[in-house]
Amino acid sequence: MRFHGRRATRQWGLIASLLGIWFFPVALVAAIDPAKSVRLAGADYVDAAYFGARYGLKPAMGNAGHKLKLSSVWTTLELEADSRESAINGLRVFLGDPARFYKGALRISRLDAEKLFSPLLLPGENETRVPALKTIVLDAGHGGRDPGKENRKLGVNEKSLTLDTAVRLQKVLESMGYRVILTRSADINLGSDKASDLLARATITKKAEADLFISLHFNAVAHDANRVSGVEVYSLTPRTQYSTADAERDDDRGANERNPGNTNDHWNIQLGYQVHRRMVEELHIPDRGLKRARWAVLRLVDCPAILIESGFLSNDTEARKIATPAYRQKIAEAIANGVQAYGTVLAGVRKQRSGQ
Ligand SMILES: [Zn+2]
Repeated sequence: MRFHGRRATRQWGLIASLLGIWFFPVALVAAIDPAKSVRLAGADYVDAAYFGARYGLKPAMGNAGHKLKLSSVWTTLELEADSRESAINGLRVFLGDPARFYKGALRISRLDAEKLFSPLLLPGENETRVPALKTIVLDAGHGGRDPGKENRKLGVNEKSLTLDTAVRLQKVLESMGYRVILTRSADINLGSDKASDLLARATITKKAEADLFISLHFNAVAHDANRVSGVEVYSLTPRTQYSTADAERDDDRGANERNPGNTNDHWNIQLGYQVHRRMVEELHIPDRGLKRARWAVLRLVDCPAILIESGFLSNDTEARKIATPAYRQKIAEAIANGVQAYGTVLAGVRKQRSGQ
């Protein structure tokens, strides 16, 4: 038996009610068209299950619709109402806006759908350009007068650890066939103040006509120092979206600025995901998440870019590990494997387009 339109639905409803079955015509139950976005808390939201179906993901609801798992053979995406955290294949990925439960469906913001999930689920979608991947700029964070984060007890600081990691990563990437340039190869400042120092790093990247930019950092917290450890990878916050550290949209200064880095939104998140995944898998450390921020270097460079916080110097156990050359080598290798995985994604998109 096939149904066509509302009249058939009504007929079937009549038959069903005669048979004593509760039956509501679909048109009355579905309050909103899943294809249309709704405005919730100042942002456009789309039905997550409907969005997932476009990518072959099947929905499974939990907790009365407040949890949603979208999955295919390759991908599992987990969402939760009122949470800005999601899991993609088990990896922590932060949303710009919390998922929201509204009128029977879990919804994600249109910005998250377009700028976060689409690029990860279908790389290259709606992108005319596939970036090259030959020249890589590595940026050892801080330097000179600016030591970055420190663990005075252990006598280590960020500026020397980032430089050593950059040099190690350079060697690994060169052995893979990439051309690598460092923003600094000594303990120096690149400008007379912080702003000009950061601008200089972006200028070096532009002059090198780089295809990729990676800024290396180590983290620290003031509270709960010995409880907080692990890796965070940052890509630039999309325009009008808010960053992971911001509680509300209004908090994010510069949200409406047009930054050169935002021309690569689609590839920034893909790069971040691939590198973050390798670091979590290979280093066996807590997954602090793939996050968003408007760090100056990420705003200013015009190629796909990420900033990596490879671990916490404020955590004595993790700082001791980071202080060993063997562990920094492992960090370098995990990042390089992530870069290579990103390169494989680019090659896949290119191959698909050339029709091979
Ligand atoms: Zn830093």
